[in-house]
Amino acid sequence: MSVVGFDFGNLQSVIAVARNRGIDVVCNEVTNRATPSLVSFGPKQRYIGEAAKTQEISNFKNTVGSLKRLVGRAFQDREIQEIEKQYINAELVDANGQVGVKVKYLGEDHVFSATQLVAMYINKLKETASRELRIPVSDVVISVPDYFTDIQRRAILEAAEICGLNCLRLLNDTTASALGYGITRDLPESKPRHVVFVDIGHSDYSVAVVSFIKGQLTVKATAYDRHFGGRNFDNILVDHFAEQFKEKYKIDVKSNPKALFRLRTACEKLKKVLSANPQAPLNVESIMNDVDVSSFITRQEFEDMIGSFLDRVETPLAQALKDSGLTKADIHSIELVGGSTRIPAVKERISNFFGKDLNFTLNQDEAIARGCALQCAILSPVFKVREFTVQDITAYPIKVRWEKIPEIPEEESELLVFPKSNAIPSTKVLTFHRKQPFDIEAIYAEPESLPGDIKPWIGRFSIKKVESTANKLLTMVKVKVKLNLHGILSVDGAYVVEEVIKDEKEEAKPEQKTEKKSETKPETKSENNSEAKPETPSDTTNSQQPEQKTEPQAGETPGGSTTEPKQDEPQPMDTDKPEEPVKPKKKKLVKKNDLPVVSCTAGLDKKAISQYRELEGQMLASDKLVIDTETQKNALEEYVYDIRGKVESSYSSFVDPADKEKFINLLNETEDWLYDEGEDSTKSVYVQKLEDLKKYGSPIVERYRESEERPKAEKQLRDTI
Ligand code: ATP
Ligand code: MG
Repeated sequence: MSVVGFDFGNLQSVIAVARNRGIDVVCNEVTNRATPSLVSFGPKQRYIGEAAKTQEISNFKNTVGSLKRLVGRAFQDREIQEIEKQYINAELVDANGQVGVKVKYLGEDHVFSATQLVAMYINKLKETASRELRIPVSDVVISVPDYFTDIQRRAILEAAEICGLNCLRLLNDTTASALGYGITRDLPESKPRHVVFVDIGHSDYSVAVVSFIKGQLTVKATAYDRHFGGRNFDNILVDHFAEQFKEKYKIDVKSNPKALFRLRTACEKLKKVLSANPQAPLNVESIMNDVDVSSFITRQEFEDMIGSFLDRVETPLAQALKDSGLTKADIHSIELVGGSTRIPAVKERISNFFGKDLNFTLNQDEAIARGCALQCAILSPVFKVREFTVQDITAYPIKVRWEKIPEIPEEESELLVFPKSNAIPSTKVLTFHRKQPFDIEAIYAEPESLPGDIKPWIGRFSIKKVESTANKLLTMVKVKVKLNLHGILSVDGAYVVEEVIKDEKEEAKPEQKTEKKSETKPETKSENNSEAKPETPSDTTNSQQPEQKTEPQAGETPGGSTTEPKQDEPQPMDTDKPEEPVKPKKKKLVKKNDLPVVSCTAGLDKKAISQYRELEGQMLASDKLVIDTETQKNALEEYVYDIRGKVESSYSSFVDPADKEKFINLLNETEDWLYDEGEDSTKSVYVQKLEDLKKYGSPIVERYRESEERPKAEKQLRDTI
């Protein structure tokens, strides 16, 4: 079984695998340790990762990046229109409510949604990992930014499902780094060590304050700037040079998308040089209108240009520190990851804020992927790793709302169920008194804090088969609302509970008691009961404890029951044996039947996922066929050249002159065919042609070999005699 982690980055992604000896980063087909996050569409096939990168200019409009910024977003979202669009060369369109691209693929226009694009890309990562591990990959952990919302997280899971992956956990970027940090270190037994993780990548900037004790990490606070990363610095350089070239070369780079793209690539290179040198040159040959451009910039000039960005470095740091309730003095160390933390001025700002030196003990480019692979190993039943509990938090508060009923006029109609920074995973139990099926809706409580125009609505959950009690009174219904391991909200079940009075004598007939009790006081509970406000759904039960791993399954938090309160919660009927210290007349809640729950969320439905899955399978098979066809064509071509040469020389005396002429003619015909109508034939035709040639060729090769082998064999025979 595979144990794999993907750091799905905006510019590039990293794959790590857990093996018995530790975690390894997997190199791709061109031996790079990171793979460009790009998908490209051609007339015959798709090109993904490195192959897409080489097409980026020549296949400009059909090569798509920024996948992470598109996934889970709507086409109309103003962040997509105003910000992301400028980084994407392909045409953005609406794809069934989600943003997508319109590209030329197989000679026709095709629309693919962002989720599909991510699936294509992740499928490539899967293939790279499978090649390395030599087994099919199924279980993975994928990183996502801390700020990803329910719909964005669901979209990544859907993408994983489309390419047949079983994502055990979506792990927040900074949490992944923290796990990699914690698992290898000697951590304190009791007094926690507080470490700040800072990740500045290509498009975003995240901070997490994390507490470590032996065997456990707890994320205390996270903060982020979603529009702060390497690409912003590249853009500032682009603006600078574009302006300069208007004067200097009388060209407007911004009027030409390809020229702009090439300038941006050159600026990224230059920016990297500036991290290690006080100045750097910029040269682009024939950028447009046959003009070669060259220029030069100093690090100081660059730092002055990005001044307004540098001023933003402190904001997430201060926010995270404040939310964590800690002070700078409490911070043990600051660990940096992500490519843009290599910029000296950025490092300086972070260091100045904390008044401390920074640490680079983690691999800046690989820490997240390694953390994901570790998490996968922890969750995978087949892998033995040191137990390490990862207690994460949610970035946005979530509330649940419902319709009030006339029987309980004082009832609230909504409740903040998971406040900001609530633990992930976590289950809360809501209590309702109803006599009919009812719906609850989960929504983000602070829509203004969500990225762009992401809708606050998370899902509607219908609790079915609710009926009044035998005496036409309200039934008590408990609903389990869960923030699962992925940070996704789900309703994990609902059930009816009834109150019974238990004492020594009555123990035997709990059910009858229940009915009687419900009759008298339907929607309130006795003071004896430890539940806070039983008459309203505001009765939530929080679990501050991280869930214990029992049997990890995809999309599921293992051991949901562990989060349920031991005393407040009703006991299942089948455990209805005498309670330990039996006090007379104790009111008890008894769990009755489970109720069906129908969930409707913003994600794709099962049918759409299976359609996408089928389509992805077809496209993959078709890509494979194109590659196989090319391989067969090359094999035929090679054979023609090779055998023709040899038949004219070394094989010459092993073939009858008449046959030789026929064979050479056939080889020449095949060569002509290859450059003419055979240029673009099918795999089976190439295979057939090669077989036809070998019918002539193989006996010749055989005779030649025999004659070569004979003296050797004779010598051997002589030697042995
Ligand atoms: P994101 O985290 O936003 O999804 P990512 O994970 O793909 O993106 P990283 O690989 O962490 O991003 O970082 C890539 C960015 O870091 C690019 O903008 C790149 O130009 C920048 N970068 C890499 N090395 C250096 C360097 N030496 N100096 C400055 N910037 C650098
Ligand atoms: Mg990253």
